[in-house]
Amino acid sequence: MSFSNLGLSNEIIRAVTERGYTKPTPIQTQAIPAILSGGDLLAGAQTGTGKTASFTLPLLHRLSSDSVKSTSNGCSPIRALILTPTRELAAQVAESVHEYGKYLKLNTMVMYGGVSINPQKRLLKGRVDILVATPGRLLDHVQQGTVNLSNIEVLVLDEADRMLDMGFIRDIRRILSLLPKQRQNLLFFATFSDKIKALAAGLLNRPKMIEVARRNVTADTVAQKVYKIDRDRKRQLLAHLIRQDNWYQVLVFTRTKYGADRLVKQLAEERIQALAIHGNKSQSARTHALAKFKNGTLQVLVATDIAARGLDISELPHVVNFDLPNVPEDYVHRIGRTGRAGASGEAISLVCADEYDLLADIEKLIEQRLPFEVVASFGANSHTKSEPILDERKHRPQASKRPAHSTAKPLPQKSAKQSAPRTLTGGKKSDARPDASRRRANRSR
Ligand code: AMP
Repeated sequence: MSFSNLGLSNEIIRAVTERGYTKPTPIQTQAIPAILSGGDLLAGAQTGTGKTASFTLPLLHRLSSDSVKSTSNGCSPIRALILTPTRELAAQVAESVHEYGKYLKLNTMVMYGGVSINPQKRLLKGRVDILVATPGRLLDHVQQGTVNLSNIEVLVLDEADRMLDMGFIRDIRRILSLLPKQRQNLLFFATFSDKIKALAAGLLNRPKMIEVARRNVTADTVAQKVYKIDRDRKRQLLAHLIRQDNWYQVLVFTRTKYGADRLVKQLAEERIQALAIHGNKSQSARTHALAKFKNGTLQVLVATDIAARGLDISELPHVVNFDLPNVPEDYVHRIGRTGRAGASGEAISLVCADEYDLLADIEKLIEQRLPFEVVASFGANSHTKSEPILDERKHRPQASKRPAHSTAKPLPQKSAKQSAPRTLTGGKKSDARPDASRRRANRSR
């Protein structure tokens, strides 16, 4: 199967070929013809499967082949709306739309909270064909009468499950009520749930359903290690591990925003350069930290699950669970960022006694037992000399060794040469003011 067999225009094929893609991924092979046929779609695919291109390419094809109807005031209308749960994902999706559509005459705009609204208002006065937005800021514009959604032909809900987890359901319903009845709806989720089922039932009209296999979290290229360690010695062990092998590009997950900030300070005391990314950080701080991490000038990025979710930071050599996630599926999302595309990677979990139940839930989900690793001595004043680690989980039933999920083929490495995004961002100035919906969602993290 090649991109040209899928019915996409030459301009789009040229852009993906230049991006270095040689053939479509499984989600693309299934979703592209389904979307081109014009029907609704319910698609299960995680970040890393190529899902963004799977809806972006046919969307661009459709918009560039159909003629544009002018609105009553003679302006060209916004024709496609892509909603994402986080600002980073919105920025990433807009960058992809821009890149894949670089040989087409379509304008893309991204809008999210945490940056000044005025430049966005100015951009909305010009031509915008495709709008990528987070729900809160979009509703701010609706309230101020600066956006018109009455000509939307295609709606994409990207990572809809995460939007629901973040409490965006009322915002989504509000936005849906502003769209024309006649439109194509594409709903993407990573994990199916009753909430997704309910949303799909109310939104989609006889959808085609697609689900691609999850990445195999137990791929040979990911070494999963668990260190048993007292909670208050975790940071010491982390610093030791980072220093011992001079780790670079380490993505560390903490459960809370407070925990992320505290860890950054503690690592700084150990002279390890780290920055945090979470919902309380201003947009400019988040963008700055992510850019430094991606270009290799930041050694450690500390993130909460929500902030990191959907980010295209993959093929990392080291992912560390400083805290285990409350939701076992998040473990799979977290460690799926390492060891991709044949590169070897390590996923390390620092587990203290009160996290054993969380570990048991994870082992149950991945149907694999993760043995405790023994730490030799670490830390300047460490009193631990090859401390034997007792496995205190013996009472727990042994999970089977069978991997839980079938394998989706890893993606080839991204082309190193990427053109700088020319997407309209609506202003870079950060007013550090999270929009209303984010504030609501953040309270629970
Ligand atoms: P996504 O699942 O959309 O977050 O995409 C994950 C990564 O896969 C991104 O870096 C894309 O650039 C890359 N990608 C998407 N489609 C392909 C493809 N057909 N071949 C190779 N890489 C791809």
